[in-house]
Amino acid sequence: MKKLDIHTGVEQADYAVQLEHVSKIYPGKKEAALNKVSLGFPKGRFSAIMGPSGSGKSTLIHCAAGLDIPTSGRVRLGDVEIGTMKEPQRTKLRRKKVGFVFQSFNLIPSLTVWQNILLPQRLAGVRPDRKWALDVIQRLGLKGREKSYPTELSGGQQQRVALARALAASPEVIFGDEPTGALDLRTGVEVMRLLRDAVNSFKRTVIMVTHDPNAAAWADQVIFLADGKLAGELVSPSVEQVSQRMMELNKI
Ligand code: ADP
Ligand code: MG
Repeated sequence: MKKLDIHTGVEQADYAVQLEHVSKIYPGKKEAALNKVSLGFPKGRFSAIMGPSGSGKSTLIHCAAGLDIPTSGRVRLGDVEIGTMKEPQRTKLRRKKVGFVFQSFNLIPSLTVWQNILLPQRLAGVRPDRKWALDVIQRLGLKGREKSYPTELSGGQQQRVALARALAASPEVIFGDEPTGALDLRTGVEVMRLLRDAVNSFKRTVIMVTHDPNAAAWADQVIFLADGKLAGELVSPSVEQVSQRMMELNKI
């Protein structure tokens, strides 16, 4: 039987990730970093998460991706409940279903581009799909750089390697935490175009934290957070709309 979301009427099967009353209180803290957040990220869409510094964006994405566990509430990745899952099952599932792009690229300096890209599959114990990896490399304009080491590449190239690594394992969801944060404007646009293409051409789901309205405007929807709670949403956002909301949330 198809289960419908009580708030939106969207079929639950159409969500890549769903959070239900998710709260996170870090040890030794009084305030909740996330306070009963319920939301769903639709499959095959590009979602951005925005909000003032300290509003809980990274916490939300870490809980959604199974990198951290909520204090209470439920997190469903596809049709699997991961919020309460213990290590190492959670790690195993994450390696299979999730890709990451961080601000700091997180490439392994002692490994080549090719080795970095195939690393998640090796860690997951799956035979790397070399043909698919080569296709991804080609599409991301990294052909010929397979044997280079990360330090030999520009920031933009390194982020493209990180994206290739995220795509190569064919994950259901790609998470980004400020993926353009360390890049210049032009390279940031390039990375946004590639994330957009991961959704349009590769049919992936992308969920990205950003503080940049220009980056957020590439998304299909923007979710706003303030003080660990949902603070609104924009569909097909423009840069101006996003900037306006952010100014309101920052009380400027
Ligand atoms: P954002 O990414 O929006 O800047 P975070 O999710 O990083 O926000 O942080 C939300 C709140 O939780 C902040 O008050 C922050 O200080 C706190 N916080 C984040 N990570 C930790 C942690 N590992 N331990 C304790 N407190 C944390
Ligand atoms: Mg953060």
